[in-house]
Amino acid sequence: MKQADVVVIGGSAAGPVAGISCRRKYEGKSVILIRKEEQVLVPCGIPYIFGTVGSPEKNLIPDALVVNNDIELIKGEVTDINREEKLVSINNGEKVGYDKLVLAIGSLPMVLPITGVEKGNVFVAKKDVLYLNNMLHAVNSARNIVIIGGGFIGVEFADECKKNHDCNVTIVELLPRCLQLALDEEFCNEADSVLNERDIKLLLDTKVEAILGDKQVSSVKLSNGQELKADVVILGVGVTPNTELAKKAGLQIGPTKAIAVDRYMRTITDTNIFACGDCAEKVSFFSGKPSAIWLASIATAEARIAGTNLFHIQQRNCGEIGVFSTMIGERAFAQAGLTERMAKQEGYEVVIGESSAPDRHPGGIPGVSQTKVKLVFSKGSGILLGGGASGGRGTGELINVISACIQGKMTAYDISIFQMGTHPALTASPIVYQMVNAAELAIKAI
Ligand SMILES: Cc1cc2nc3c(=O)[nH]c(=O)nc-3n(C[C@H](O)[C@H](O)[C@H](O)COP(=O)(O)OP(=O)(O)OC[C@H]3O[C@@H](n4cnc5c(N)ncnc54)[C@H](O)[C@@H]3O)c2cc1C
Repeated sequence: MKQADVVVIGGSAAGPVAGISCRRKYEGKSVILIRKEEQVLVPCGIPYIFGTVGSPEKNLIPDALVVNNDIELIKGEVTDINREEKLVSINNGEKVGYDKLVLAIGSLPMVLPITGVEKGNVFVAKKDVLYLNNMLHAVNSARNIVIIGGGFIGVEFADECKKNHDCNVTIVELLPRCLQLALDEEFCNEADSVLNERDIKLLLDTKVEAILGDKQVSSVKLSNGQELKADVVILGVGVTPNTELAKKAGLQIGPTKAIAVDRYMRTITDTNIFACGDCAEKVSFFSGKPSAIWLASIATAEARIAGTNLFHIQQRNCGEIGVFSTMIGERAFAQAGLTERMAKQEGYEVVIGESSAPDRHPGGIPGVSQTKVKLVFSKGSGILLGGGASGGRGTGELINVISACIQGKMTAYDISIFQMGTHPALTASPIVYQMVNAAELAIKAI
């Protein structure tokens, strides 16, 4: 039987990072990582397989990431955790003993209980190379593609399928706008316009009631009574934490159906077992209440905390801020922390600061995009609660700066004198720098 100081289960975003953080903090400790797939996909890259990237094989995390960090890699599925004897069983009959165990077993795509969901050519965003190759084959030859769900996964699939070949792509979304759970209304409206410009049809305020066809899907039946032709249906409706293994081992499950953990990423049930990433329970940075946002950026932050805390506690999880960005055509949309709507729902009185300016200077420089920033501050304290942005490719890093300001509990006053670095070819002008101007404009109402 093999034995290691640390055994990590899971090889996607969280598992390798937990292993690497452990190797960095505790040099002498041996680490084994067990994962079930032969090849691991970059999970966030899955929609891009269907357009920009072109195949699952071009969207892989190399094994070198694990092996070069002196972590032993075992490919196999863990079927059982024996907490008394501190060992895990793998489906090839092998057993591996541990001192500390990290569960980074992730999430599974949600499948809606719609009649006909089991038919051929109905797909989810499954993190599996063979499955995605079959899906790619179906998408490549489809004339009519229907995407259920207008969240960021659905929107990215729609945009990429449209890039793939000339086909009709329709998003069916239950809410009045796409991306509505993540963005404020003005950004949702802008995103819907860009989707329309990209010739992606939006059926909003609409539900898919049934998936019709013989063995294969041929159409979907909508709540408005219409039938929509479909050669391929993609469900982009979210994920659910993968907890079967943890439940079997008697580990407590939390209110969002993920493995219950403390702020140090130790499971509530067993201090020798840690959990991180999509399988682990999360709390909001703002309210401390359970929160169900599953992102790779959160998974890796938690993995770093878990890996660091394995043998003595050094890092505490501050809770999830929720930072995300996406791209439709050439336009990026991003949000960090609370939107105005979420902040008000949480009971905050808010002050908004907004600013829009070119992301290069002078404004006529080639490749420029108009970038909008909206900041949400708490009235009275002036603390930044959230920010939204739309613009060019720089929006992805801009939102990360906004997130850092949120995590550092910066106020409108701090941000208004933030010392940014600017360059004509790279950033907005220092005179109209959107984030700083938005904060300065908000101050008078704080
Ligand atoms: C289509 C799509 C697009 C996304 N885009 C973004 C994005 O742009 N930005 C962002 O931040 N997030 C994005 N996400 C979310 C992100 O992918 C997840 O938050 C992230 O994958 C979580 O990583 P994880 O390691 O916790 O779990 P997972 O990625 O689910 O990995 C779990 C790992 O555990 C392994 N495993 C599970 N059970 C066992 C077992 N019993 N034995 C051995 N191995 C096991 C799995 O095989 C896998 O290797 C996206 C998700 C999807 C589906």
